Parts: sequence; C-alpha cells; structure tokens
Amino acid sequence: MGRDERGVTPQSEDFSAWYNELVAKAQLVDRGPAKGTMVIRPYGYRLWELIQGELDQRIKDTGHENAYFPLLIPESYLQREAQHVEGFSPELAVVTHAGGKELEEPLVVRPTSETIIGEMMAKWVSSHRDLPLLLNQWANVVRWELRPRMFLRTTEFLWQEGHTAHADQADAMRETMLALDLYTEVARDLAAIPVVPGEKTAGERFAGAARTFTIEGMMRDGKALQAGTSHYMGTNFAKAFEIQYTSEAGRLELCHTTSWGMSTRMIGGVIMTHGDDKGLVLPPRVAPHQVVIVPIGRGDQALDAARDLAGRLKAAGVRVHVDDRAHLSPGYRFNDWELRGVPVRLELGPRDLESGTVVMAKRLGDEGKQSIPLDSVAEIMPGVLEDFQAFLLRRATDFRDAHTHTADTWESFADAVTQGWALALHCGTAACEDEIKAETAATPRCVPLDGASETGVCVRCGQPATYGKRVIFGRSY
Ligand code: AMP
Repeated sequence: MGRDERGVTPQSEDFSAWYNELVAKAQLVDRGPAKGTMVIRPYGYRLWELIQGELDQRIKDTGHENAYFPLLIPESYLQREAQHVEGFSPELAVVTHAGGKELEEPLVVRPTSETIIGEMMAKWVSSHRDLPLLLNQWANVVRWELRPRMFLRTTEFLWQEGHTAHADQADAMRETMLALDLYTEVARDLAAIPVVPGEKTAGERFAGAARTFTIEGMMRDGKALQAGTSHYMGTNFAKAFEIQYTSEAGRLELCHTTSWGMSTRMIGGVIMTHGDDKGLVLPPRVAPHQVVIVPIGRGDQALDAARDLAGRLKAAGVRVHVDDRAHLSPGYRFNDWELRGVPVRLELGPRDLESGTVVMAKRLGDEGKQSIPLDSVAEIMPGVLEDFQAFLLRRATDFRDAHTHTADTWESFADAVTQGWALALHCGTAACEDEIKAETAATPRCVPLDGASETGVCVRCGQPATYGKRVIFGRSY
C-alpha cells in the first residue's frame, strides 16, 4: 500500500492491525518467547510506573498496606473454594516438577491470590480488633489465556490486588465500593478514560464472588474494555479458609472479604481510547515525556538552547526530553514523537533562536503550530498540559455518548452494538444473555450504578426485565 514503514494501518481499515502494529512501533512492548507473554520496553514500563505510582499512593491514602505473598500456591488451596477452582482451572499453569523430581503436591503459579492471602488472613485475624484488615499486593500473575493480546490479555500480567477482611457485610460492601471509586477516579483523572462504574450480571461474576463490580470504558472502535474490577466475596473465602474472629459479644463469626484488581490492561485502554491514525495520543499525566524538544540545525547552538529550556521545564515540574538524534532529519523525529504520542513537541531551530521563540506543536487540536516566546515556555507549559488532559477526557466522553444508544427494539439493539453500546432492559437470565451473545457478539458489560430506575420488558425475549434499570451491552475485549 506504499505505507511508510514507520506508519500504522489506519484504525478505520483494521482496528486490530492498527493496535498490534502500534504497540510494537511505539516501542511499548515486544513479543515474549512463550505464547501470550510480553516484554514491556522502557517506554511502556514508564507509562505503567506513572499509573502504578499514582494508584499506589491512593491505595495507601485510603488506609491499605502493601505486602507480598508467594508466586507459587499449593494446588489444594485453590480447590478449597469450589467456584474459584472451577473458574480458574482452565487458565492455570501448574508446576509438577522441581529440583529434578516430581513434586508430591503440584504448585500453581498464582492466577490471583485470594487463596494464599485467605490462608494468611485466617492466621492473622482472631479478634474484632484485628479488623478491618486492609492489604494490597503489587505482583505478576499468570492466566493461560487462549486469545492473548498485548496489554489487554497476556498470559502474565502486572497488577495490584487489594484483599481485605471485615467484620460484616456492610463494612465489606463499603470497601468494595471504595475500591471501585478509586478505579473510576484513576481511570478518569490519569488515563482520561470516562469509565462507567457498574455491577456485573451473575454470568460475568468473578469465580467465587458474591457480587462483582467493574469499570467499563469505550474504545474508539466502539467496544468495551473492563478496566478494573472490585469483588465482594461474602463469606465464601472466609468459610473455605476459616477467616474468623471473636466478636465483642464473644461469638465466633466469619469475616466478609473483598478483592479488587487493576492491571497493565489499563495501558491498552489508554492506547485504544485516545490513539489515532498517526499513532498514540498520551494523556499528559501518564506520558513518559510530556514535552519533547527537537533541536534543528548543525552545530551546538540549538542543542544547547534545547538543554537550557529543558532545565527550566523540568524545574517547572514538566517531564521533558531532548531529542538529540542529530543523524535523523527533523521530519523523521517529528513523526516519531507523533507516533509515540507525546502531547507537546517544541521545535527549536536557528531562526527561532534569532527571534527568541520556539515552535509549539500539540499532538491534537486544530490550532496548528504556534510560535511562542522562549522565555514564556516554562511558565505556560503546565497549563497547556492540563488543558490537553482535559481536552482528551472531554473528547472521549463525547465519543462514548455519541456511540451509546437506548434500545427498545431488537433491531435497534443489534444496530447499536455494531458501533458502540446499547442501553437496554433485560430479563437477566443466562440463556437470554447467551442468545444475545451468539447473535450479536455483545455481552452485558454492567448495570451502571447511576442508571435511572426503569421497568419494562427484556429487549430480546419480552419477559419482565430485572435489575430495575437499563443494562449496558456491548462487544468487548
Ligand atoms: P479479575 O481478578 O479477573 O477480576 O481481574 C482484575 C482485572 O485484571 C480485570 O478487571 C482486568 O482489568 C485485568 N485482567 C484480567 N485478566 C487479564 C489479562 N489476562 N491481562 C491483563 N489484564 C487482565
């Protein structure tokens, strides 16, 4: 097609090819040797660190403490909670041999850590005074995924998993919603993804949970991405692991537990919420380089000025990078940073130096290039970046709203989920969910928390609707 070898397939032509080419060309990841694994390159890892660092701070600010539990879990632990083992069995990687011998009991590589943390909670909790127990772990987990995609669904991924134990249902539910709020805020504030928080239907619940809550974002192909989940476990894991305490009244009671996770999938969400045919578009708050300065021309004059300017930007709290690759043409470097999604590019050539200005080009927006006084750059840049961040959230919100349709007939439902989301009343039965999926590939993404009360009949089968409000249906990752 004569496409520049650095360019990517347009989104409208093949969204999936666009994504797969972009993650590699933007140097976020490379393929790992084992199927479904990924190598996160420095540019991608820095992006993760920025999300991770902020999420970690908010987790700590809400009273949780970090701990670390082993990667290898005795297989018998998983078997103690029937639904948990049933749900996770197909995805488990199991170690049967070690040290040259067959193990007496196989060890599973953790797909999630409810079981091993439950075992320890049982040891650490004995009185109501030990509650709530608010733990978080940053770790890698392994799930043998059949349809792996970089960031979205890899067999090994990085995440945090919150695990908490409480005296009663009310306290555990408060915690479940607190974690969901935290995710909603991190997705909106940092990643500029206007996610919808809601509850999963029974068929989409986490294996072993009593209730599962999710945040769902709409990607630029209209599909939904589950970007984080928060589970209320009831007493399921407490029963299986004997997590119990003596109440003030002296009675032995079971704890109510929760767990919640957000993973490197968030990076995929950032890419697919904001990216375009030129490449990534990174929200400034998660951009490894918020500003890149490209010095132009021979000699050291522009480079020295660029470094000087970078120093001032850094002092103003801006993450800035000087592209000193003098062997590459300015045009090549401009395209490269566009592909890699840098919010603001500053071009500094001999003529700019003479006039005491610099050329500013934003990654998006219709203002074109602007010439601005060199000595005002550091002062205005934090504001420019904040505006860019806000613009991305607004644009993504408008896109989501324009691609979400209320559907009261099957025809309008089927049409809506080809381009985005359908808001529909549903009977709530698994058989009806399956039928919808078979015909349209759409699944119930969530029952939005803030949905208005509404009664009526199921958009598919005409039976009375449950949930008392509309459900978001969409195709998903
Ligand atoms: P779960 O423990 O299944 O509720 O998963 C918690 C979160 O981890 C999900 O909401 C996803 O955002 C993310 N996640 C689940 N599976 C994967 C995977 N294979 N690769 C990347 N992220 C994942």
